[in-house]
Amino acid sequence: MPVVTGACTQFSYAPGGAPRLFSTEGGWHYPPDTERHAANTLRPKPARWLGKRHPLDRIRDTLEQHGLRCNFQIDLRGLRGVIEQQPEFACRTAWGEPLPGHPACLNEPAVRQLLRSTIDDLANYAPAALMLDGLPAESAERERPRWGVNPETDELLSVCFCAACREVAAGAGVDADQAARSVQVHIERLAGGDRASAAAAMREDGVLAAYRTAIRGEMTAWLARLAGTMSTMEAYFVTRVVDGLVYLSEPWRPLLEVRPTDDEDRLDSASHVAGAALLNAGAARLPAYRPALQSSAELVRLTGDLAQAGARLIEFSGFDAAPPEAGDWLRQAVRFARRG
Ligand SMILES: [Zn+2]
Repeated sequence: MPVVTGACTQFSYAPGGAPRLFSTEGGWHYPPDTERHAANTLRPKPARWLGKRHPLDRIRDTLEQHGLRCNFQIDLRGLRGVIEQQPEFACRTAWGEPLPGHPACLNEPAVRQLLRSTIDDLANYAPAALMLDGLPAESAERERPRWGVNPETDELLSVCFCAACREVAAGAGVDADQAARSVQVHIERLAGGDRASAAAAMREDGVLAAYRTAIRGEMTAWLARLAGTMSTMEAYFVTRVVDGLVYLSEPWRPLLEVRPTDDEDRLDSASHVAGAALLNAGAARLPAYRPALQSSAELVRLTGDLAQAGARLIEFSGFDAAPPEAGDWLRQAVRFARRG
């Protein structure tokens, strides 16, 4: 269940009075406990559609009736609205400018406090698992460059130089100013001339490497401590085969998001199963229906393969937007995976 999201639009075949097309600018999709957040520097920003609704209470009642527990997902991109109001807590580029798309730095104490209080809110609903999405990945090898330049430049632009990260680096004996100058110089070199040698120089830059190791180490250590406080929930981070490495250690486990990888919206199932095995994925999320899958047999096979690759939890996405036939596909997939 997505409880904090970025902007999204969903179409649903759901019968009844529910809206067919649901669109939100993102934010918190439940009313946060105002007392819990009262002393925090950053406050949650509920999504506008919420009004006076409290969907989690209603969902909890329904789950209790059926003896089920829910999984919650927090997408860090949902913090964008909060950060827009207080941009001094945004991630920063080497030029000190706010970084688009990565609104919140997890080394920033105010952001940590907001996330911690949000998880405390959710603990009241006794979830089975918490999934964290939108974590910064180490490499920028995504579907396409985000800022219309080469991937190395994207990677360098996404190295955070916010005040908190600079402080972490200083504590580790790394000169943040020098690392920032390195980034600026590498980006200039990557733009013109020989990109391959510029990329090689960037990889061999010791100060930059030490800076990145320091801020990444601090972030993963905090996330590990955070998971340690969520003793009743399993902790997953959402990742994809194309995301590159996300450095998280126990007790966080990867949730492999299986998405279409080519132009025709088809899945490259083989690479995803290989990815799941490689990541030792604790969980997987895959589309439930067409056009990503051509037949129920394909869904059955992929579900079974992911279960065999070690996925303890398998989530099906896009089910709301699929016609009722998708229910038959799911029943078959689950039955066969359990049998295996
Ligand atoms: Zn930072």
